[in-house]
Amino acid sequence: MDAETVRRAVLDAFGDVPPELALLIAHDCEECWDLRDLLAGKPQLLDDATADMVRWDLPLLSDAGKQYYLPAWLVRSVASTDTDHTDALFFALDSTHRWEPPGGSTSAQRAAIRDYFALMLERIDTLGELRHEFGRALDRWS
Ligand SMILES: [Zn+2]
Repeated sequence: MDAETVRRAVLDAFGDVPPELALLIAHDCEECWDLRDLLAGKPQLLDDATADMVRWDLPLLSDAGKQYYLPAWLVRSVASTDTDHTDALFFALDSTHRWEPPGGSTSAQRAAIRDYFALMLERIDTLGELRHEFGRALDRWS
């Protein structure tokens, strides 16, 4: 599994997800409104500055929001495993919280996530303390 293959699988699988902004945050609170305002008008992969600012905010996104913006985390983690985006992804993908987008996730999306895990498995030496989360997350998406 090479990084470019995974990156392409992610872009192909998630590229058609519609950006329905009102659905991207989970509920009405100041933190979520700030996140919505920060993401408004940004491309699905986000610019690096925004991606850095929101790197721990994946859990605040709605099911639809996660489905739409997940590639922003995945491509950065693929490009460089030893990043906060990788940590944030593992904790998020290890959780069952808000992973039921309207219409469900496609088989291509689930396959892209498994490809991502396969790549991470090859890099597991750098994962350190994330091994536990990694194992559970892999089970969940397999
Ligand atoms: Zn909120």
